[in-house]
Amino acid sequence: MAIERTLSIIKPDGVQKNLIGDVYRRFEQAGLKIIAARMLHLTTAQAEAFYAVHRERPFYKDLVRYMTTGPVIAQVLEGENAIETHRKIMGATDPKKADPGTIRRDLAASIEENVVHGSDAVETARQEISFFFAQADVCPRTR
Ligand code: GDP
Repeated sequence: MAIERTLSIIKPDGVQKNLIGDVYRRFEQAGLKIIAARMLHLTTAQAEAFYAVHRERPFYKDLVRYMTTGPVIAQVLEGENAIETHRKIMGATDPKKADPGTIRRDLAASIEENVVHGSDAVETARQEISFFFAQADVCPRTR
């Protein structure tokens, strides 16, 4: 298995509900390492650009509105098979369909307000990491 990097976001509902520590604990217990992190309040233009792939979907406007309702925390996670490992910890998009023990099943309110985002493939991860972080912001572990 390859060492991968992936982009994770704790969305505005997760930050509002004070779930940052809970979510980080799940990442760390799964062996994922946080190698960059920042808090920011997305502008409408930033949220539109980040979710441009969903532009034609009926929920796009609501998604952009939701993602700009409060600050988010974006982080880069590194580890073996990080993209799939992270997606497993997150659970299915709809919390009702997510497995017990996943972030979304345990903590999310709805298919929209589902606490976390995670990249879904190597190329998307690369693009999404560069959306939030310059190369110099990423701090590979030295110990
Ligand atoms: P993800 O990769 O599991 O986050 O799911 P998607 O890439 O398909 O969707 C992106 C985000 O859009 C989701 O995480 C939800 O916040 C939101 N979303 C997805 N499907 C729906 C939907 O059917 N209705 C609404 N209101 N929001 C949705």
